[in-house]
Amino acid sequence: MKNILNDAESIINLEMFGIAIPALKSRKTKTIEVLLEDRELYQSKEEWLITDNPYSISRTDVERIHSAEYASSLFSEKVEDSLKEAYELINSDGTFNRYYPEKAEVPLKELFTQVLHTCGGTYYASRKALETGFCYFMGGGMHHGHKDFGHGFCPTNDIMIAAARILSEKRAEKIWIIDVDAHKGDGTAEIARDFSSVKTLSIHMADGWPLDKPEYDSAGNFNPAYFPSHIDIPIKRGEEDFYIPRLKAGLEKLENLHGEKEKPDLAIVLLGVDPYEKDELPSTDSLKLTEEQMLERDKLIFHFFNSRRIASAYTMAGGYGRFSWKVHYNFLHWLLKNE
Ligand SMILES: [Zn+2]
Repeated sequence: MKNILNDAESIINLEMFGIAIPALKSRKTKTIEVLLEDRELYQSKEEWLITDNPYSISRTDVERIHSAEYASSLFSEKVEDSLKEAYELINSDGTFNRYYPEKAEVPLKELFTQVLHTCGGTYYASRKALETGFCYFMGGGMHHGHKDFGHGFCPTNDIMIAAARILSEKRAEKIWIIDVDAHKGDGTAEIARDFSSVKTLSIHMADGWPLDKPEYDSAGNFNPAYFPSHIDIPIKRGEEDFYIPRLKAGLEKLENLHGEKEKPDLAIVLLGVDPYEKDELPSTDSLKLTEEQMLERDKLIFHFFNSRRIASAYTMAGGYGRFSWKVHYNFLHWLLKNE
């Protein structure tokens, strides 16, 4: 059974907090709307569409992956500062960046409640995938959440929260995290180092954010964006035609990392659509896959896990501007109609 989890509570609505990042709701709402315009999919929606999530995320879940200090700041009044840092709302000179607090309808701290709902969606999708083989969550993918801080619109890391809880509940012994968002999964790579049963692969822009500064600063401090995944596949500007073959080789290499073939119990995939050439976030400019290449990528990942009978949970990760929904739609429409 191919389930799609579209839980209204886990839609993070940045606009209501006065935040003007072009992470539009249409990625979720329009994708589902247009899927349901298909008569056959509309009639069978009870079979594939899940609209509520019974699970919530506790402080213990958050503490499993973050440092004690950062976790306690997220559950205190300091959360607003952590959110401002994670969503990059304050410039170094103190002015606001894409932030209009006068337009906010609710206090900023409530954004963290929405973030936790989203983490709950990733956890539920992972459980559902373990039960049925496949679940696609319309949300999640906060891969820039580090142990001690958040950046890149990720105050925490839903992927590692879900993986750590699934492992602690002994629902799985080995988990892979496959990250095809345009930006490197730096937070996931750092946190996963504490979990010997989690393996990570990230294919991303070689030079774009968060890899746009040196590995060490002038004082010799390590830049945490450079924590290595088990397999990192950097793609340079103009190398789009090598993207699919390199991703395929990377997945095969991950499978054979220790000499003999490994089969995880669960793969959590960050199916970011910001490598798409029509993505509107300036920091994704150096990777421009066509609509056809995006669908080919998504099918490749799906077939890789499906043919090996490996349960897989998908999250949306990054995707910005008016055209992102179409990439999600293309994959889901193909999946529901053909697989
Ligand atoms: Zn991204």
